[in-house]
Amino acid sequence: MSTNPLISPWQTPFQTPPFDLIKTEHYEPAFRHALEVARQEIQAITNQPEAATFNNTVAALDRSGELLGHISDIFFNLLVCNTSKELQELAQKIQPELTAFYNEITLNEKLFMRINEVYEHRECLNEEERMLMEKSYRNFIRHGAKLNADEKQQYNQLTMRLSQLTLQFSDNVLAATHAFTKHITDEQLLSGLPQSARDIAATKAKAKGLDGWLFDLTMPSYQAIMKYADDRELRKEFFMHYSSRCFHDAHDNSALVYEIASLRKQIAKLLGFNDYASYVLTERMAKDKDHVYELLHTLETPSREAAEKEMQAMVDFARHLGFKGDFERWDMSYYAEKQKESLFNFNEEELKVYFPLDKVISGVFGLAHQLYDLDFVETKEIPVYQKDVKTFFVHRKDQIIAVLYLDFFPRENKKGGAWMTSFREQHKTNEGENIIPLVSLVMNFTPPTADKPSLLTFNELTTFMHEFGHALHGMLSEVTYTSLSGTSVPRDFVELPSQINENWASDIHFLQSFAQHYQTNETIPEALIKKVKEMENFQAGYLSCRQLSFGFLDMCWHDEAEVNPDLEVLEQEAMKVVDFFPRPKGCCTSTAFTHIFSGGYAAGYYGYKWAEVLDADAFSLFQETGIFNKDTANKFLDCILCRGGSREAMRMFVDFRGREPKVEALLKRSGLCAVGTPSY
Ligand SMILES: [Zn+2]
Repeated sequence: MSTNPLISPWQTPFQTPPFDLIKTEHYEPAFRHALEVARQEIQAITNQPEAATFNNTVAALDRSGELLGHISDIFFNLLVCNTSKELQELAQKIQPELTAFYNEITLNEKLFMRINEVYEHRECLNEEERMLMEKSYRNFIRHGAKLNADEKQQYNQLTMRLSQLTLQFSDNVLAATHAFTKHITDEQLLSGLPQSARDIAATKAKAKGLDGWLFDLTMPSYQAIMKYADDRELRKEFFMHYSSRCFHDAHDNSALVYEIASLRKQIAKLLGFNDYASYVLTERMAKDKDHVYELLHTLETPSREAAEKEMQAMVDFARHLGFKGDFERWDMSYYAEKQKESLFNFNEEELKVYFPLDKVISGVFGLAHQLYDLDFVETKEIPVYQKDVKTFFVHRKDQIIAVLYLDFFPRENKKGGAWMTSFREQHKTNEGENIIPLVSLVMNFTPPTADKPSLLTFNELTTFMHEFGHALHGMLSEVTYTSLSGTSVPRDFVELPSQINENWASDIHFLQSFAQHYQTNETIPEALIKKVKEMENFQAGYLSCRQLSFGFLDMCWHDEAEVNPDLEVLEQEAMKVVDFFPRPKGCCTSTAFTHIFSGGYAAGYYGYKWAEVLDADAFSLFQETGIFNKDTANKFLDCILCRGGSREAMRMFVDFRGREPKVEALLKRSGLCAVGTPSY
C-alpha cells in the first residue's frame, strides 16, 4: 500500500495530484483505503463522549473524508476528461460503494441526533457557520435521516440503483458520440467547407493512417459540417447521427431515461415531496415550480415572437438563394450562416484569424488582471494527466491563490462540451491555514493543425469566457468550509459568475487588448468588432426558444405528471416552443441529455435562464459605472465571487445590485422587447 501514490503524501507543489505517478490499478485499493479512513472519521465524530458542538460535529463532518474527497475528485474528473474502459468499469463498481457510504452518514441516527442538537441552538452561530449548519441539517433530512427503518432501506436501494444508471447513461453518450465517423475521399463532398475545417479533418485522417478527410460528431467537426457543407445529404446524415445518439442504437438510453426519472420520483415521494422538481427546488433560489414556470413562460412569448420572424426571414433568404422544397432542421445552421454573412457582410473565418488560442488566453487572463488583480504564471512543475494540459500559478497581491489547469482540445477519451471543475476546493483547516483551490477548465476547442495554431471561433471565445467566470468563482473563494466553497452555491445562482463574464467578449477595448492576426500580428480592425456587436443578437429569439425548450423538457421529466411512454411524442409536446420546422422521425434529445440525466442539472436546466436574468441585471451595474470600473469589480468580488455559498444567494445579489433582480435587463440585452424583421 505504501507505494500507492494516491495514498502516500503528495510531494508536489501545493500538493497537486501526482498524475505522473498514478496508474489505473492504484484507484481501487486507494478508494478502499480512503473509505475505511473516512468511516473511522465518521465513527469518531459520532461516538465522541463530548456533547455536540458546532465544531466537534458540524465542522468536523465538513472536514472529514478528505482523502476520499481527493481521490474521488481525481477519479471522477478523469473519468470524463481522460477516460478508458478500465476507469469506466471501475466507476460502475465504486459508485455504489460511495453511494452506500454517503447514505450511511445521512442515515446514521446517532450522528443525526448530534446534528439536530447543534441545529436547535444555531442562533449563537455566525453567518457562515449558520449557512453550513443549515445546509448540513437539510442535507441529512433530504437524504433520509427522518425516515423509518423500512423506508431507509428503500431509500438505500433506490439511490444505489440511480447512481449506477446515471453513470451508465453518460458512458453510453460518450460511446455513441464516438461511434460515428465519416471518412471522405471525394473532395467534391467538402464543397462549402472552409480550409480550416478541411485541415483539421485531414489531420484526423492522417492520425488514423487514412487518406482524405475524417469527420466526426465532436463539436468543431460536427458544426463545420452543419454550418458549411453545401451537400445537403451530408448535413442530413450528420444531423441524424448526432440527434439520434443513444436512441435505439447500440448504446441505447431510451429505457434508462424512464427508469432514472421514475427512481427520482420514488425518492422524492419517499422524502415527502410530490415530485422530483419540488424536492430539488427547495434548495434553489427559485424555491418552487411556480417560480420556474413563471420565468419560462415570461420569456416564452417575446422569444417565440422574435424567433418566428427570424425563422421566416431565414427561410425567405434561403428561397432568395434558390432553395426549394421543405426547409428541414439540417438546413438551419447552414442558411443561418449564409444569412449572417449576407446581412453583416461577415464570415466567421475572417474573425478566427484574430483569435489564435495563445492570444485569447492572454486576453482572458488580462481581463481578470484588470478587474480582479490576478496574474497567471505558466509552470511546468505541476504534473498533468495529459501532455497538452497547461498549468498556471494564479497570483493575487503577492500571494499564490490557486492553481489553474487548462485542457483545450477534443480527444476520443473526453466528453464533449466545456466545463469547470476542481481537483480541490479552497478551504481553511481547523488550524486556520488557507488551502488553495486547484481549478480546471476542460473544453473542446478547434485544435491546431500542422501549419496553423488553434484559431477560435467567436463562440469558442465566449465559451472560454463563460468557463473562466466559473474558474474565477472557484479561485477567488475565501471561505472556511469546503461544503460552502467557490461554486458550491444553488444551481440557479452558479451561472451568474460565468455568464456575466461573457459580457466583455464583444467589447472593443477588451478585444483590442489581445486579438491579433496570427500571421501578421495586426490588431483586430474596429469595423470587424462593429460587425461582431451588430451580430450579437442574430437569431437571439431562436436561441432563447432553444434554451427554454430544454428547460421545459427537463421540467417535464421531473414534474408530477406521468411522462408520455412514447419518447418522441413526449419531446414533441415538451419542446414545442422550438418547433419551427418538423421534428424528423428517429430524433431524440433526452437520450443524450447528459446535463439532466447524468449531470447535476435535473430540474435545474431553467437555471441558465434564471442566471441570465441575474447576469444581465448585474452587468447593467457595470454598464452604468463603466465596464472596467474597479470599484464595481471590487464590489462584485466582495459581494459574490469570494463568498462561495457562505451567504444566501438572494442576499449576495441584493448586496451587489442594491435591489432584487429584474427581467428587463435581459430582454433589453437580447433585443427581445422590440424586434423588427432584419433586411438584406
Ligand atoms: Zn456554466
